[in-house]
Amino acid sequence: MRVESFFLPVLFFAFLISSCKQEEIVEKQPSPEAQFAEIQRKIDSLQNFISNRPILKAAIVEPNFGLFQTLQSVGLDLKQSLQIGNTLADTVELGALKAGQVFWVGFDPKDTSRAVLFRYAENLATLHFLMRDSADEWTYKIVEKPASVRYALYDGVLQEGGNLYNALRDIGIPQNMVGVVAGVLECKVNFRTDARVGDKFKILLKETRFQDTIWIGGSVLYAGYNGSRVKHSEAFLYLEADPKSSYNAHYTEDGEALIHSGLRYPLDRLHITSGYGSRIHPITGSRAFHSGVDYRGAVGTPVYAVAEGVVVQSSFSNENGNFIAIKHSDNSQSWYLHLSQRGVSNGQRVKGRQTIGKVGNTGRSSGPHLHLAIKQPNGSWMNPLLKKMIATPKLEGAKLMALKEQIKTIRDILDKTEAAEPRGISDSLQATVKWIEP
Ligand SMILES: [Zn+2]
Repeated sequence: MRVESFFLPVLFFAFLISSCKQEEIVEKQPSPEAQFAEIQRKIDSLQNFISNRPILKAAIVEPNFGLFQTLQSVGLDLKQSLQIGNTLADTVELGALKAGQVFWVGFDPKDTSRAVLFRYAENLATLHFLMRDSADEWTYKIVEKPASVRYALYDGVLQEGGNLYNALRDIGIPQNMVGVVAGVLECKVNFRTDARVGDKFKILLKETRFQDTIWIGGSVLYAGYNGSRVKHSEAFLYLEADPKSSYNAHYTEDGEALIHSGLRYPLDRLHITSGYGSRIHPITGSRAFHSGVDYRGAVGTPVYAVAEGVVVQSSFSNENGNFIAIKHSDNSQSWYLHLSQRGVSNGQRVKGRQTIGKVGNTGRSSGPHLHLAIKQPNGSWMNPLLKKMIATPKLEGAKLMALKEQIKTIRDILDKTEAAEPRGISDSLQATVKWIEP
């Protein structure tokens, strides 16, 4: 039995996720905070060209705050906030702001209303800088700590009483990748009806780490499933040169899209407070038709697009409050109502599971919740719970050729990883973990 060695990476990831302040880690190496401070010091030394050391203020994101509100909270005026926002928009993918996230703003000691520095840590290894020169121009700089990359292969078997998420976590797949991996697998396997104990799955991740300890990110290169009810199925990651291409996704060997075909969840936690159909309206008290499903959610909870598509409405009405409508490739639309914040604009292309706004209580709403509705191509509403798939076009022509090339590369990595020494084995989970460095 070599269970112990297998559980090391699992425990290790648990540490990273639960708290980086665990004493066990601090004893072995500098804490993430100390490492971070070290990078900060190096960066500070880059700021020589600013004649006077700026006075740094921490702009902390409050729940439901956007970038401008956050910057203004440390005394930055609208004009400078806009300058920073616009310079950032050209260079950095800020994504959705999280409460508690910190930006540093440096003010000129001679004129404390004038910002000369903006600093944003994307993660422990990547720092973004805006510096204002004497000509009042903002320049962008990025400082990156070298990160290490490895290909990791997770082989597992579905256990009695276990669900997919637990199985993926138990074999050591990093917590922040579990949802992504499950998303890929769920497009091919209906886990409620077709998964069976003993079914085998194989996941190849490209993992990026900072100093081998801190998980930065990763992608699912390959997901394979072999079950008694589900025949052998495989999904491969396809990437185009443009990182924002909507074709970047998982496909079968024949070029059939996977990740975009299944409907994703609009919230992390799903609790339906009111279903679709006829009901007594909570405000008017009269019997009315409920065009969607209401999910419970605190104000500020991120709302995700259920599938890839184009935003056809991002606006406000007295009835819907802040609302967003996304048109999908099969001409159906998903609608998200009563938002506190809208994070996407008309005409914008979004991916499935992309954050598009925040749960709110705007419009005719009796409390914070998300109203999700699906409009069919003929204009009528349907029960969102019955909408499972959105047909996506297949990759064809040059794109299909490019996919085949990428599949060759992935299979090659898969073979090499497969041939490596196991780093962890669990007899009880019938699982192995192997990895190689590129
Ligand atoms: Zn509703």
